[in-house]
Parts: sequence; structure tokens; C-alpha cells
Amino acid sequence: MQPRKRIGERLIEAGLITQEQLQIALQEQKKTGELIGAILYGNGFITQKDLFTVLSMSYSGEYTKEKEEEMDLPRDITDIVRQSRAVLRTTIRDVDKISDISMAPVVRLVEQIIVTGMKKRATDIHIGPDVKGTRIRYRIDGLLQHAMYLPKDMLPAIVSRVKILGAMNIAESRIPQDGSTEFVWETKVFDIRISTFPLTGGENIVMRILDKSQLLLGLDNLGFLANDIETLKKSLSVPYGMIIVTGPTGSGKTTTLYSALSTINSVFKNIFTIEDPVEYQLPLIRQSQINVKAGLTFAAGLRSILRQDPDVILVGEMRDMETAELAIRSALTGHLVFTTLHTNNAASSLPRLIDMGVEPFLLASTIDTIISQRLVRMLCNNCKEAYSPSSEMRESIGVAVPENAVFFMAKGCKECNDTGYRGRTIIYEIMKMNESLRKLILVKSGSDTLAAAARKGGMEPMYETGIRKVVLGLTSLEEVISTTRTAY
Ligand SMILES: [Zn+2]
Repeated sequence: MQPRKRIGERLIEAGLITQEQLQIALQEQKKTGELIGAILYGNGFITQKDLFTVLSMSYSGEYTKEKEEEMDLPRDITDIVRQSRAVLRTTIRDVDKISDISMAPVVRLVEQIIVTGMKKRATDIHIGPDVKGTRIRYRIDGLLQHAMYLPKDMLPAIVSRVKILGAMNIAESRIPQDGSTEFVWETKVFDIRISTFPLTGGENIVMRILDKSQLLLGLDNLGFLANDIETLKKSLSVPYGMIIVTGPTGSGKTTTLYSALSTINSVFKNIFTIEDPVEYQLPLIRQSQINVKAGLTFAAGLRSILRQDPDVILVGEMRDMETAELAIRSALTGHLVFTTLHTNNAASSLPRLIDMGVEPFLLASTIDTIISQRLVRMLCNNCKEAYSPSSEMRESIGVAVPENAVFFMAKGCKECNDTGYRGRTIIYEIMKMNESLRKLILVKSGSDTLAAAARKGGMEPMYETGIRKVVLGLTSLEEVISTTRTAY
């Protein structure tokens, strides 16, 4: 499906533009990546009214008679945009005059932007200034996708409305601001974290949507394979020691940690967390949020938590030597400590901690398990296409793949926003501490040596769990390769 081409063709059919104008716009699009509607408008080829038509087409991605019903929501937005602009022309000059009544269309517009994002399973909503308009994008399954292109003069009103939602300062536009709000949609309660950032063309907004109901998932539903769930449950049953989850930002570390915590959560355990930010509220667990301005750093918080008689402590991240050392000493003195690190794979966590200044013997005697993970997109079950990998392909994979294995490739359909993927799952490696690894830590071995020893001890590298999921038809080979490229 090529919605952009179709829009161009429809505009020609409608007599709104000429073939030449479309060619010019397509040329420009190759260079700038801007939307065709915005380019046509920017060049003066179409009027504002036509632009709205283009917007309503590009919004659903496809414009056919059969899809008319689905088009209702775009149509709504076009209407709302028109009403908002009429109101704004009279009131935008004076922020104080933007009362809730006059803002009504903008209120509805922002609501629609948020609800549409939720319907599309977006984790983040990006609203910001673009060369000739206001661009709205959604992050879905880890990738940013275009959603809407609105007129440039809409941005200040949208920003104001979002700031009101987030209890932020509406009159301040020169400095970044943070805020948050709760949003109820279809009986589900979402937490929305809002961040604004001043750019040259106006303020940029990012709204992070936290779906609390997602967390009911638990360890069994994150994507760990059955035998690995058993391994993890054993790790969680140790009375003290340290469990580390590593991976880049956005690799699902927090979800894994929370799921692990909820596995052992009980009224008989005193569980504390110190986090930045607190992403989900868990029953029974004492959660705290670092506040650097007030002096509550990870290290200071951890020191105080130790005086609160904890059994289990979650330290959001070991960012510095002081926190790392305190966390490790807590594990050594009879606490079960969960934490995260920013490393590319499990084995490199150990040299990283030694580089930070932690004594090797402390690591050797406290660390129980290191999980490294990434999120890969799952193939859309509605459109994935089976194929038999050639023998050369199977060889290049570097891991034994059954000769009659069937792989699937991403294709794209209406169900998956034409991406070929829907939802995500984790690929991971679990490094369990053993005697030979302890010895290697004591002599400050490098990550390659440690990784080799871990493999000998039974660790399946992340790439290989990824290939297992390719063989299971859950994800594509391309997805696993591109996701693990940075892991080794
Ligand atoms: Zn699909």
C-alpha cells in the first residue's frame, strides 16, 4: 500500500493539482521526507481547505469508500482543527483569554490525539514544530510513526492545553517543563508523563503513556521461554544476593524487574524500591522516587532504606560508584537486591562494575544472576508470510536451524498499520553465577572470556534465543539481527 502516492493521484483526479506539481512535490519529498500534503501546501499548489482534505486522507493511511466508517475519527479531527482555528484567531493573542469554553475544540483535539494513540497502542506521543506545520507522531512497538500533520498555528494552543493537563506553567515557554496526568479511557486508567522542550520553531511535547493494566503480565508472559522461567524463579528464591537486568533504554528492563518483584511480593517480605521515575505502583511494595534537588539521590535513599529493615531492595539504576558499592554491600549483608545497568550484554556488566571501582571479590560473592535483554517486534499474525530459508541463509545464521524450518517475513496489512509487526516480545540471555565465573572475576577477566565461560555453564546468548523465536514464527530474522547488532 502506498498511501502517499494514492493521495497524489486522488488530488490529480479531483483536478486540484497537475501531474507536474505532483512530480515537483515528490522530488522535494525525496529530499526532505516531509508529507506530500505539506509540500503541496507549502509550494502554494493547494489551498488550506484542500490541505485538510489531504490531511484526512493521510490520517487513516488509506481512503476508500469501504473504510468510510473508520474515517469518522479523522473527519472529527478535521472538524475540530477548523473550529479550533476559528477560536484561536480571536483569542490566541492573549493567553489569559483562553478560557475553558473557548478552548473546547482544542481540548477535544488533544483528547483525540491521546485516545487515537491509545487505540494504536502507542507508548509515546510526539507533538512538535516542523518546517511548515505541526507534526504528530506515535511510537508504536518501539518505532516512531507519522500520525498527523496539522497547521503550524495550532501548536501553541495544543501546547497550552497539554500544559494545563499536566499542571504545568502555561505562561512559561522558554524552559523545559515536566508534568503528569491521569487519563481514563474505556475504564482503563493510564498515567501520562508529559515533557516540554523549547525548540526554535516552538515547543516540543512528548507524552509517555503508561498503561497500568499492562503490568499484570508477570514473569510468565514477558516472553521468557518455559525452561528459562524455571531458572529465573530459582534465582528469585535465593534469600540474598544481587540480580541485575541490563540493556539499553527502552529494552523493557523495568517491566522485567517489576514482574520479578511481583513474583516474590508477599506480606511476609519488606520490599523497598528507589527509582527514577516510579513507573508503576505495586501493592504492598514501598516505592520511593529520587529527588536530587532535595538531596534524595540513589545513594542517599539506599542508605536510609537500609535502616527500614528491608528484605528486598530494588535500586532503579547503578549510575555511579557510590550507588554500586552500597547496593553490593546491601546484597552482601543479607538483602536481595535488584538493579539495572546500561551494558550491551550480560558478561560486560562485570568489567563495567570493576571499572566503576567495585572490588572484584565483592562482585564474585554477591551477584547471582545477570539478565540482558532487548525487545523485538512480533510479526503480525494476520499478514506474516512463510518462507523456507535457503541453505546459505541457514549457514549464515551461525546457529543450528532445523533443515525443514519455516521462517516468516513481515509484510504489512491494515491490522498492523502496514508495518508487518504487532506487539513486542523479549530476547535475552541469562548468566547464572558459577565457580569458574567467580574465579575469572577475581582475576578481572574481560567480557569475552566471561561470556565464553558463561556459555560453557549453559548460558544461551541473546542472539540464539532470538533465533529460537524466529524458528517459532514469533519474529523475523531481520528483526533479531538488527536488534542484537549492538549486543556484542
Ligand atoms: Zn499485518
